[in-house]
Amino acid sequence: MTDFLKNPIFTDETKAREWLEARVWPQGPVCPHCGATGEDVTKMEGNAHRAGLFQCKACREQFTVTVKTVFERSKIPLSKWLAALFLMVASKKGVSAHQVHRMLGISYKSTWFMMHRLREAMRTGGLEAQN
Ligand SMILES: [Zn+2]
Repeated sequence: MTDFLKNPIFTDETKAREWLEARVWPQGPVCPHCGATGEDVTKMEGNAHRAGLFQCKACREQFTVTVKTVFERSKIPLSKWLAALFLMVASKKGVSAHQVHRMLGISYKSTWFMMHRLREAMRTGGLEAQN
């Protein structure tokens, strides 16, 4: 059941972010602050900016795909979040935090925290952060 973990989105941060962008924004980026889309949203290019950073012309805010999701402001790489999410969804019997911790090579504490957040998100039916 772990063959899918060979997918680069579970090891490569850029691929993980692009994967999430394609799912969260199937019609192109949407400003999480004001809902602006299309020409109101500009991708910030160049090394001076974090990868995946966008600027909204309508409200002047900057954002990435993880803003206002369960993945926001986490020190855990996005690729690990996705791997944990897939492991939880792929396993019919459910996976324990110990299993995920061993499979992904991240600390048990981080794994537990991630899985707790992901379970909450699945229970409420989305990846939006619950405050
Ligand atoms: Zn905006």
